[in-house]
Amino acid sequence: MTRKSIVLVTVDCLRADHVGFMGYPRPTTPFLDSLAVESFVFPAAIVAGAPTYYSLPAILASRYPLALGRDVLGLAPDEPTLATALKQVGYATASIGAANPYVSSRFGYQQCFDVFRDFLEDPADRASDGASDGANSVSGNGWASRLNRGLQKVRPSLGPLGIVYDELYFRYCQRVTPTANSLDSLRRFPAADVIVDEACQWLDSIGDTPFFLWLHLMDPHSPYYPKEEALALMGDAPVTPYGARYLNSYWNRSDLGRRRLARHRDEIVALYDGGIRWVDVQVARLIESLRNSRRWDRCIFALTADHGEEFLDHDGRYHPPAHLREELIRVPLLLRVPGAIRKEIKKAPFSLLHLAPTLLDAAELSVPSAFQGASYWPQIRQGTTYDAVAISECVAGCTNPFRWENRMGPRVLSVRESRFKLVLHFDPLKDELYDLEADPGEQAPLSSGAHKPERRRLLEIARLQLQQSAEQRDVHARVRARLRDLRLEAERIHA
Ligand SMILES: [Zn+2]
Repeated sequence: MTRKSIVLVTVDCLRADHVGFMGYPRPTTPFLDSLAVESFVFPAAIVAGAPTYYSLPAILASRYPLALGRDVLGLAPDEPTLATALKQVGYATASIGAANPYVSSRFGYQQCFDVFRDFLEDPADRASDGASDGANSVSGNGWASRLNRGLQKVRPSLGPLGIVYDELYFRYCQRVTPTANSLDSLRRFPAADVIVDEACQWLDSIGDTPFFLWLHLMDPHSPYYPKEEALALMGDAPVTPYGARYLNSYWNRSDLGRRRLARHRDEIVALYDGGIRWVDVQVARLIESLRNSRRWDRCIFALTADHGEEFLDHDGRYHPPAHLREELIRVPLLLRVPGAIRKEIKKAPFSLLHLAPTLLDAAELSVPSAFQGASYWPQIRQGTTYDAVAISECVAGCTNPFRWENRMGPRVLSVRESRFKLVLHFDPLKDELYDLEADPGEQAPLSSGAHKPERRRLLEIARLQLQQSAEQRDVHARVRARLRDLRLEAERIHA
């Protein structure tokens, strides 16, 4: 019997509600929409943490992100993962990622990949996956930057003069990038075509061996500089490099309130959507290549995201770890398994903690006992309901986990059922209960007296999660991870 290969695509910052197969009206994903017809589509796939560094341990290793302690980021050395499980049974393995510094060997992601290409030189230089994005901000130290920062501070008190300031700011943004002549020259991460080129080359090199290919794409990640072809495919008017630079800088400004930011929101979203469209185009090319080499019929394919993105839904931007709101924790999940007939998936949440065991089970392979998640493949394949809650966690305010002290803030934990969602903050201690049926936008928590049985039930689930996290901690994995951190820190100081 020929073994099934597995292709896993994780798209950074891809919100569930910005793909066509989840109902988005703009044409971001025509190819994936056509693939969705023969795939399982999960109406409520929920990440186990956000952003990247609190999400990927669950996707790759089926482990809650804070299970080894708040100060441990990424995977521990020798921790069982999808890659280790597949390597053990003879799969060829490759990971090709678009230069996300948190998806690097620094955080243990290279384990058991024959080829691990991350397009990074110095991961710390690109640290970005937090609140505001360094590359977006006008952060130089020249006189113009200093003047601009000074102006930004007084901007709120300028009143109607603010319009004049915005015009000056536009000219200033043009000044700081005098050589930009295309969006390509402004882009900070390799676009999906670069990643798919590498993937196709690798696939050509491995013959008929069953394989595991993991791609991590950054096209929708800020700063938002999509391929110009993608904007054209979306039917959007062209954006000049200066215009795109201005929009990104404006969107990153810390001196503006919601109302003024909202003025350019739709233009920013159009740039973000362009990034998604390029992912769609390139995933189509990858699958075409698999079809041409007659491997697609034996390929399990999963596409999901590590977290979503905020566009002022709750006044926020980007994806800082803070509130675990739906726009950040709910992601698309499309799963195509050859030979399995698509069934409708019920709206119970599916935690990405269960993705790795589900993929292994669908490939008829055994699941490592260390995985905290479980396979839902039997229920998915048969279209039967499953009863599940999805727990997500992060550390509030940890926007630069390269700084150890940044990792030690208070935990935030959410427990999400189909209808109710509880968000627990630990400093100050606060719990918010939402009724997602009545309030899908999570705009107002229920009053403390409402829905007491539900609140009690979800609090009990949160309590059990915290208790088990402490009691079942793999202390050996924790020590290995901490030793790695210390070694890297010593090397950094030595250098
Ligand atoms: Zn991310």
